[in-house]
Amino acid sequence: MLQQSQNLAYGEAIDAISRFLAKPPAGMPADVIQAFDALGAKGFLPPKLFLETVEQAPIAISITDPNARILYVNKAFEELTGYPREQVVGQNESKLSSHSTPVSVYQELWQTIQDKRVWRGSLVNLRKNGEEYLAELVISPVLGSNNKIEYFLGMHRDKTDIHQLEQRLKFQKALTEAALVAAPMVIAMLDSDRKVLMDNNAYKALLGDFRGKEPAHLFLEALIQQDGFDPSKVCKEGNCFTNVEVRIDPPGRDVSPRWFVCSGVHVAEMDEAAQNYFKTQQERRCCLLLVANEVTERRNRINDARLNMIRATMTEQQMLQTMRESISAAVFKLQGPFNMMKAALSMQADAQNLQMVLQQAMQTGEEALQSLRAAIPDNVEELESSVNINEILHEVLRLSTEKLLASGIVVDWRPSTLSPTLAGRAYGLRSLFKSLIDNAIHSLNESDQKQPEIRLDIHVEDDELVLEVMDNGPGIPANLRLKVFEPFYCGWQKASEHAGMGLTMAQEVVNDHQGSIQIDPDFLGGCRVFVRLPVMDSED
Ligand code: FAD
Repeated sequence: MLQQSQNLAYGEAIDAISRFLAKPPAGMPADVIQAFDALGAKGFLPPKLFLETVEQAPIAISITDPNARILYVNKAFEELTGYPREQVVGQNESKLSSHSTPVSVYQELWQTIQDKRVWRGSLVNLRKNGEEYLAELVISPVLGSNNKIEYFLGMHRDKTDIHQLEQRLKFQKALTEAALVAAPMVIAMLDSDRKVLMDNNAYKALLGDFRGKEPAHLFLEALIQQDGFDPSKVCKEGNCFTNVEVRIDPPGRDVSPRWFVCSGVHVAEMDEAAQNYFKTQQERRCCLLLVANEVTERRNRINDARLNMIRATMTEQQMLQTMRESISAAVFKLQGPFNMMKAALSMQADAQNLQMVLQQAMQTGEEALQSLRAAIPDNVEELESSVNINEILHEVLRLSTEKLLASGIVVDWRPSTLSPTLAGRAYGLRSLFKSLIDNAIHSLNESDQKQPEIRLDIHVEDDELVLEVMDNGPGIPANLRLKVFEPFYCGWQKASEHAGMGLTMAQEVVNDHQGSIQIDPDFLGGCRVFVRLPVMDSED
């Protein structure tokens, strides 16, 4: 009896599938049609063989009457649901319902299929053993010759695993994004063209601080310039770098430098295109995950300590310098009377006594001169190192802050966003810049300028670093532009603490660096000093 009803059901199944294939309804997913074609269903196979192939199909197939009463199920259906076909044939498809699917979904399903359209969606089903699974379904109406619905063809597969994976992925993504966004460090992912693919809140805040200039680009430029980092190597060799400290000079006026500790990790670019499925890691384009932690505060504390040390050393140096200058001046001045005495002696004056006295005076004077010369402190030779001019100018300005504020002088300086570096002697260069800035301050103090201003500019010109120090004070007359570099020349009205050695010493430092110093003869409305220093060769 069962066999007979089954044979009947098989006949109907072949009929249903053949009709379905003869005129697949609009909206039927192409992969379903292809699957049946692959089974050789288009009438090329004898009915029995065709049914056999449907039987063996790896997707759960069921055929129902217009009320969803099951007429036929294949083996995959039996395996997926756990129901042998004799337990479901004649039953409604609702037998599979776990009652967790909202009624609205069924309503929409029925509305669609009764409208002779294909429904595609997900339902929560129950296996015979009571286990729930998520079914991905395609239900298609099969029409008779009178264009009335005669059957429904249902196909479904278990997508619980995919759903779980999707949920896990969503969770992981949400977790990663939340962690990324909330992370206090600056995070950005860059592709090989340095385009920022992803960033976080800390990065966005920095973008604002840097006035729209891409922070990642400033980091990369600083890493290349200050640490010889090669971004292309990160991709080619899969290298990563950790805890590299860089200094960033944000764009804009009067903006202090900021310090960051950077790390970078190579990440193969996610390429979803099917053609890239078999590509190896090396063949994929490379991205760089850049993580930067701001350490400006810590660095400022270190810098303050360093500045205090420099201040102490400079005071000591200045003391020595003043001593040298004073003793040298004394020696220079003493030399005059001696010369006169020498001349008097050579004239062989009659009075023998006078000669004796003069000779004694000469001898004592010579001894005094000798001891004065011996008392001139040695010039301590400073070793050459890689010097960042931005940094030195910052330090000098900070050392001069009190004087500048007291004189109401405005300093206009836009540090170069790149850090110009040269091989030099830091203390020497610091004294050089300090004496130029001190001179500018002094000249403005002696002028009646209502808006005293000092402008500084650094740029690189023909392998030379050019520093311009400009003030809007009285300037230096043409006849004194060379004389001011002579030792002991002092043109200030109030010269009490000056021995006239500042520019002489500046000239010495510049010579020591194979550079040049010049007072611009064409500058109107103040004084402009050019200091040119050769830039360090990158291979040095
Ligand atoms: P029901 O009262 O049967 O249906 C809920 C709502 O669906 C009703 O309120 C009504 O709006 C609508 N509805 C139900 N039957 C009809 C109808 N004959 N005509 C018009 N509207 C109707 N369900 C599953 O849960 N899992 C499956 O795997 C599944 N596969 C199916 C395969 C095919 C080929 C077809 C045609 C239907 C399938 N269904 C499946 C739907 C199933 O027939 C039931 O409608 C559903 O399970 C809800 O059953 P129920 O007893 O909870 O509520």
